[in-house]
Amino acid sequence: MHELAITQNVLNIVLDHAGKAQATKISKIYLVIGELSSIVDESVQFYWEIIAKDTLAEQAELVFRRISASFECSDCHTVYQLDGNAVYCPACGSSRVKILSGEEFYIEAIDVET
Ligand SMILES: [Zn+2]
Repeated sequence: MHELAITQNVLNIVLDHAGKAQATKISKIYLVIGELSSIVDESVQFYWEIIAKDTLAEQAELVFRRISASFECSDCHTVYQLDGNAVYCPACGSSRVKILSGEEFYIEAIDVET
């Protein structure tokens, strides 16, 4: 359900941007979603079609890019990618790990027509 709030937020940002750029149409929106975030592409797409209706972004295509999760061990400083569900350090087995990437959600770029 939180995808609705997120999608609304994306719409507000792109409309604000399009307004400043005096765009007549928003054609593409590039979104970056981290593997660890619980955001589901299909849900964003679903809400988008409802809330973007009758706005400059109505025809916009949503392009999703996933970022894989990576971690750094706080004990031996090994940097590694998520392997299955194991978040423990593959080098020393420590569970004291720091998330380096995978939690992001942001708008990378917007294509508009003026
Ligand atoms: Zn380690």
